[in-house]
Amino acid sequence: MYEEEVMDTVAEETAEAVEEVAEEVVYQDETLVCKECGNEFVFTVGEQQFYAEKGFVNKPKTCKACRDAKKNAGKPERQYFEAVCADCGGVAKVTFEPNPERPVYCSACFEARRRARG
Ligand SMILES: [Zn+2]
Ligand SMILES: [Zn+2]
Repeated sequence: MYEEEVMDTVAEETAEAVEEVAEEVVYQDETLVCKECGNEFVFTVGEQQFYAEKGFVNKPKTCKACRDAKKNAGKPERQYFEAVCADCGGVAKVTFEPNPERPVYCSACFEARRRARG
């Protein structure tokens, strides 16, 4: 019985080793689960090859949408909405979508009002 157990272990290890080698050569689309949004996404063959070329050992943890969102969040350029300043009538650039029911001020007027309020 003991001998059989040993044989099994060796056989399993060999099978695993073969699998690892095969993975390095033959790429297959892999479905991963994004840890940000929980959606499944495909780690494509092309991406796997790209990762391998770059020497990345870790698989992507997030989907492309989340990665792009993060990339954009890191950029200094943000999306600006243009509105008319309720004070001077000039162009007010805001980082949020202006609510038509609330006045929007340009940065100068916003700053002036903020200071006036103390
Ligand atoms: Zn995601
Ligand atoms: Zn203004």
